[in-house]
Amino acid sequence: MRLLLGCIGDDFTGSTDLANTLVRSGMSAVQTIGVPAHYPASDPQAIVVALKSRTIAPELAVKQSLEAARWLIKHGAQQIYFKVCSTFDSTAQGNIGPVTEALMNLLGASQCIVTPAFPDNGRAVFKGHLFVGDSLLSESGMQHHPLTPMLDANLVRVMQAQSTMPVGLIDTAVVKNGPEAITKALLQAKPIVIVDAINNNDLLTIGAACKDLPLVVAGSGLALGLPQNFGLQHGAAVTKLPVAQGRKAVVSGSCSQATNVQLAFARAQGLPVFDLPVAQLAQGKKQQAAVSRQALLWALDQATAQPIVFASTAMPAEVKALQTQYGADLAGAIEDCLADIALGLVKQGVGQLVVAGGETSGAVVKALGVLQLQIGPQICPGVPWCFAEAADRIPVHLALKSGNFGAQNFFLEAFSQLEQS
Ligand code: ADP
Repeated sequence: MRLLLGCIGDDFTGSTDLANTLVRSGMSAVQTIGVPAHYPASDPQAIVVALKSRTIAPELAVKQSLEAARWLIKHGAQQIYFKVCSTFDSTAQGNIGPVTEALMNLLGASQCIVTPAFPDNGRAVFKGHLFVGDSLLSESGMQHHPLTPMLDANLVRVMQAQSTMPVGLIDTAVVKNGPEAITKALLQAKPIVIVDAINNNDLLTIGAACKDLPLVVAGSGLALGLPQNFGLQHGAAVTKLPVAQGRKAVVSGSCSQATNVQLAFARAQGLPVFDLPVAQLAQGKKQQAAVSRQALLWALDQATAQPIVFASTAMPAEVKALQTQYGADLAGAIEDCLADIALGLVKQGVGQLVVAGGETSGAVVKALGVLQLQIGPQICPGVPWCFAEAADRIPVHLALKSGNFGAQNFFLEAFSQLEQS
């Protein structure tokens, strides 16, 4: 076995994002859906075990993450990478702190660095504060997230609220002085250390400083700087996917700002959109089944040449009103319905499927019965096309888009990119 880096992703799109960055940075990678029953046949240098643990209770997230880490270590992983969201997506009740501490204990690590920075997508950490583009996280739109409203951009504070170990900061003044400066600063630092990174150079520097750390906690950005520690060269692991076939569809359960813009753009471009009657989904399983039946019949009525779109995507005010009226179970009901629709679409012959939303992607991948994803060409930073086999060995190309990723023309751009690849 060639395994070097063992990764645990706390959601599906984030795991794809990480596998994508590793591949582009020179490390062959396979994403598995949960702890795999069989070791991947391609014998990759990195395995990203994708969990759906971002918003689950800390005890359960700890249990699942430890199980994944033990499996990765058993198969030879030399370093563990706990992949979290580049917008952190974890409130004071979140599980990043508890999972980090449990992994540190498992690995006997006295220190761990934490950086969600992903400059290619506008996520930068400066003086411990997370920025999305020009805005603080807490003013970026993420304060309205349906599941994890981020009201504080100070990651030292956010991480400390979730952790029993002290949390400190290594800031940009140290990072800009190179890997040795970071290593030296770590000697004086707290056990859990947020590290500033405002550009890719910083991530390469931090990556080099992580060479001997058993555990790193990061967004996908840090993966830029890790393959070099194992003697691997940038770009060496990029592979081609099989030729894409079948109809094109988009399933969108993300309510993030970027997805709202992308959906509005797709409508303006004339793509047919089936808007899920969200209130009906709150009325139980029978109504959910009725909606997905209706959606799949609608699909059969649409011209096959252009992509068709299924969306529950809504603006923050509407999401808030729906949540107030229907409570916490609504999100799961929407995810289940979109996943059911995705499965029906693949059975109908959709072979190219874009899914918008991290949680939504998790539900879709599970419903499709996908066990592993082969990583292909990148559509935009953080989102590659992937190839997978759904249940009954149906081949399907999947693009799993984290809510806030992609430009306004993402949906159409994704399909035309796949055609050209
Ligand atoms: P993102 O990647 O943008 O965070 P996710 O799929 O991870 O997207 O999360 C969005 C959550 O919001 C999902 O649980 C989804 O079911 C829920 N959701 C989708 N549409 C609506 C809506 N109209 N009202 C309330 N919640 C919604």
